[in-house]
Amino acid sequence: MKYLKNYLYIENININKIAKKYGTPSYLYSQSKLNSNILNFKKTFNKINPLICFSIKSNNNLQILKIIKKNNLGADVVSKGELMIALKAGISPNKIVFSGVGKTSEEIKFAINKNILLINAESESEIRTIERIGKAKKKIVNIGLRLNPNIDAQTNSKISTGRKIDKFGVDKDTFLKIINKYNSSRFLKIKCLSVHIGSQIINFKPYIKMVNEIDKILSRVNHKFEYIDFGGGMGISYSNNDKKLDYKKYLKSIEEFLNKHDVKIILEPGRSIVGNIGILLTQVIYIKRTRNRNFIILDAAMNDLMRPALYGSYHRIIPTKISKKMINKIHDFVGPICETSDQFLSVKKYQTISENDFLAICDVGAYGKVLASNYNLRSLPTEFLIYKSKVRLASKRQRLENII
Ligand code: PLP
Repeated sequence: MKYLKNYLYIENININKIAKKYGTPSYLYSQSKLNSNILNFKKTFNKINPLICFSIKSNNNLQILKIIKKNNLGADVVSKGELMIALKAGISPNKIVFSGVGKTSEEIKFAINKNILLINAESESEIRTIERIGKAKKKIVNIGLRLNPNIDAQTNSKISTGRKIDKFGVDKDTFLKIINKYNSSRFLKIKCLSVHIGSQIINFKPYIKMVNEIDKILSRVNHKFEYIDFGGGMGISYSNNDKKLDYKKYLKSIEEFLNKHDVKIILEPGRSIVGNIGILLTQVIYIKRTRNRNFIILDAAMNDLMRPALYGSYHRIIPTKISKKMINKIHDFVGPICETSDQFLSVKKYQTISENDFLAICDVGAYGKVLASNYNLRSLPTEFLIYKSKVRLASKRQRLENII
């Protein structure tokens, strides 16, 4: 993204023109940025040669997934729907892992029928269910078991997943007990130890702890794992003040781990691949000026982008056309939904803006459109993929007639 003669561009496309031509609210993604993020991620972890399974929950747009498949990535899925779309994008079943605490029997059967790489189980009950289904199908099912290492990822509490108070995985003792118990199952092959301690992780230390914890547990368990799945969670910068994750330190700890253990590593990045590839393009409907603040009422709302309302997440909002004049007054960027939490951002000053202007809410490629809803009976936003000078429709705007 860049400004050229005061206009915002994604690749070679003037965003203001797109807004006028195709309407708002719309998600716009840069294909070149997606490709370069994947390339960088691969380069960063090149030395450990991991299987990279893109976490589809962060962005499940089929066009994006097709690009991800073209780059030879696998997929991390958490539902039958995500598994179906991964397969539809052409991602090979032997590069797909299935996570989640509540997979239903139907989902498990579907995954077994598709011969995916691993079902990463999260409880003994789930393992029992998988074993029962495997037995009925006379099939040996390849599974992983998710460890809850009781590590605080030092991120937003609502996206922390590796503490003992979190519902994910099983604690160390349960892990060892389950491995011993199902080691010799005729219908299960426990191939993987999986873990995922949270999302938007910026501090490398929890990762080091996690790797060390797994090293320790491997020394206590009498079982040969083929895979260690370290999950995803790598954080991105939403503001210029955000610290950056020290990938080198994380990588080094995995390298040391691999010196001791002969296993294949799986990584499940979501946000770090797609977070910064997208904007949510929106138009100012009204400006309500009060004594102390200006409410900038946008046509995008919390139903289009839930993260600020859900987690208090910060997303920059930038103009699609720069004006040089600043207004020193609080600006609250809000949506039209009947909830006070339908607020995206509050800033102390902003450039002059007028009703009908277009703005871009930044870094919404991950956990953006996937969390959109029909709340207030608003239609889901459309998505576009931009590549050089081409704009491609990636999902149609929902028509109210079709949802009423
Ligand atoms: N793997 C699992 C099991 C997850 O639950 C998640 C998301 O929280 C991810 C991978 C992807 O995380 P992120 O988008 O932070 O990389």
